[in-house]
Amino acid sequence: MNIATLRTVSSDNLRDAILSHLAYSFGKTPEAAHLEDWRMALSYAVRDRMVEAWFDATRRTYDAGAKRVYYLSMEFLIGRLLEDGIVNLRLVDQARAALTELGLDYHTVLENEPDAALGNGGLGRLAACFLESLSTLGVPAMGYGIRYEHGLFRQSFADGRQMEAPETWLLQRHAWEFERPETRYTIGFGGEVRDEAGRMVWTPDEQVCAEAFDTPIAGWKGRWVNTLRLWSAQSVRPFDLDSFNRGDFEGAAQPEALARTISRVLYPDDTTEQGKKLRLKQEFFFTAAALRDILRRFDSEYNDVALLPSKVAIQLNDTHPAIAGPELVRLLHDERGLPFEEAQKIAQGCLNYTNHTLLPEALESWNEGIFGQLLPRHIQIVDRIDDAHAKANPSRGFSMRANHQVRMGELSFVMANRVNGVSALHTGLMKETVFKELHRLHPERIVNETNGVTPRRWLLSCNPRLSGLVSETIGSGWIDDLESLSDLEPHVDDAGWRDLFAAAKRSNKSELAAWMSDTHGLRVDPAAMFDVQIKRMHEYKRQHLNILEAIAHWQEIKDAPNAEWTPRVKIFAGKAAPGYVFAKDIIRLINDVSSVLNADAETCDKLQVIFLPNYNVTLAERLIPAADLSEQISTAGKEASGTGNMKFAMNGAPTIGTLDGANVEIRERVGAENFFLFGMTAEEVVARREVEGHAAKAIEADPRLARALEAIRSGMFSPDEPDRYRHIVENLSGHDYFLVSSDFTDYWRAQREVDRAYADAASWTRMAALNTARSGWFSSDRTIRGYMADIWDAKGLI
Ligand SMILES: *Cc1c(COP(=O)(O)O)cnc(C)c1O
Repeated sequence: MNIATLRTVSSDNLRDAILSHLAYSFGKTPEAAHLEDWRMALSYAVRDRMVEAWFDATRRTYDAGAKRVYYLSMEFLIGRLLEDGIVNLRLVDQARAALTELGLDYHTVLENEPDAALGNGGLGRLAACFLESLSTLGVPAMGYGIRYEHGLFRQSFADGRQMEAPETWLLQRHAWEFERPETRYTIGFGGEVRDEAGRMVWTPDEQVCAEAFDTPIAGWKGRWVNTLRLWSAQSVRPFDLDSFNRGDFEGAAQPEALARTISRVLYPDDTTEQGKKLRLKQEFFFTAAALRDILRRFDSEYNDVALLPSKVAIQLNDTHPAIAGPELVRLLHDERGLPFEEAQKIAQGCLNYTNHTLLPEALESWNEGIFGQLLPRHIQIVDRIDDAHAKANPSRGFSMRANHQVRMGELSFVMANRVNGVSALHTGLMKETVFKELHRLHPERIVNETNGVTPRRWLLSCNPRLSGLVSETIGSGWIDDLESLSDLEPHVDDAGWRDLFAAAKRSNKSELAAWMSDTHGLRVDPAAMFDVQIKRMHEYKRQHLNILEAIAHWQEIKDAPNAEWTPRVKIFAGKAAPGYVFAKDIIRLINDVSSVLNADAETCDKLQVIFLPNYNVTLAERLIPAADLSEQISTAGKEASGTGNMKFAMNGAPTIGTLDGANVEIRERVGAENFFLFGMTAEEVVARREVEGHAAKAIEADPRLARALEAIRSGMFSPDEPDRYRHIVENLSGHDYFLVSSDFTDYWRAQREVDRAYADAASWTRMAALNTARSGWFSSDRTIRGYMADIWDAKGLI
């Protein structure tokens, strides 16, 4: 196929390309093809159309001698890629027509794609949105991560309890990746370090091979395509023939099995580390492979390593790749012979670190025994970096090596050119808390880059009804210039236009209701308010505050069933880390409450509670366009930014929320009158914790709260095991670290305000539309432009 045919894709040649792949890539006739074969053939046909721009991007980057950006992330929550590719290459009409001609339904084919959940939640999804924006902006960039065989576990419920099954996305062939057997690096662990005439030589005693798999990531209009390079672990010595010949078949396969363990599973816990040694191995594995790859590419273009900081910017997504600091120093000093100080300076010039959390239990640190055993040379380098920093900053009162731990936050900070937080509030708190001292010593280093989400996935493709209306109203320039959504503002006062906006939402809700009925046998009234809280299950995110309010609301409805109630369906979704008992108990509580409320004939047309299993990107894409209300109710000071909050606002769902993370900036932008604020501020939270008996006082002051807690305590939702949730009630009446009880009363007030506002359909729609019109700033394009200017000093080439 020549370049001219690639450039103009008609449905005819897309159809021919599908048939051709079906035959020549998959060896199937149309008669024998399963749905999966058709989906694969379509994916290959779409992928083919990215390849030319992909080569082109590489060529232009070399020609321009441009600075490259490398995004190192332990997680990429990419979800499905087929629709993303079709939308970004603007092949929707052609793909639809081609499939129709082949007797296939477009949506059925798209639905066949497994959801690639190579991440836990917000952090991994951010990385995926960033890759798409980097391509949209034409920045020469590459994502580096791990090609996990098993992504985040699949969640189901049994008796309301979370069940975990392995995610098997790779049981099917991954349509988007190119295996690169020629791009392999040997990564070592353990062993010993010897001083050979002043030169430190590390001889690892264990080695694995990192093999690259590349996924092309096309930006909007397919004008630029970058690469997501994921490393798969393999044995350097795949097979032990001697053992095999002795009849020891298991022993013969063991090296391969052991090595592959490293890329076997994603750790399903985004706040605390577990499987410590393996996790540290994973971190070093992908970081070391990425650095080797980066240096190889650099060496192919330049022969002066001093140029590295002007040609390479490396972003560390949280501390998971923090070992990049000592490893880059090791490569430059031990292996290339640069003086230590110079090696460190060059490394620092390239590295930047994004902090994602202030939760103390989530700040990574490694036991020095484990660290030193796996990375004996790196621990020496960490100490040398730490000593040098202490010497240069005599007033310093901390160490990277306190209490027999290696502290990755401090290490990342000291080794970084820039350190960033992910919302204005979080960055401010970072300066005052976790990095207070480092900020005093390096006041220029911390910058803020408030998160964003890609509008191609989170509005254009997930919400065709609303995005269609937006384009009809203001043209399609908003797709890569999201701030122009503000052109919608004059229309919110036009009753006719508001009806169109409301009709899009109503249709989205009907579609969701039909899907819930088909797939989960749930019946909901699409006219009710859809009140949605979807995110990882965590105490700080306070799903238990939401369910407590539901119980109290239900009790009030039962007191006066004939009063005027605004009908609501509360929808939850989210996974709990398998070892996080409290979060799993909250899931079960919500499911138990759901059973009781939904079975109550007197109230179920006014209030229903639903918990949908297996939250992932695909489910988010289904739920967000159909949401009326966005629940963002974390304890103030705990959510670094949130990105779910932005997706909802963009899709016309006003927020009920605290002044936490990016909620603060969402409220500033959409207007206080279009946001349901409640709860204590981050400062008030700190003060409230000091109040003796704060929870008991809050309960005593609010009979509704007392009654809801009593219902749980009495076993009303768990009659077969009345004590099941006693510990939750005790927590909320006692320690209540996350201040659920203290924030309840104000949450209740805000919820009733929501009820009243929703009952006035015209003004509600106006509010919802203003959320869309004023959410343009939350595009990840804006975030990436911020990183380019403030952190990377990189430019787009389109
Ligand atoms: C956006 C997103 C998140 C992050 O949600 P928050 O509400 O910001 O925690 C997590 N998981 C998935 C699947 C998402 O799409």
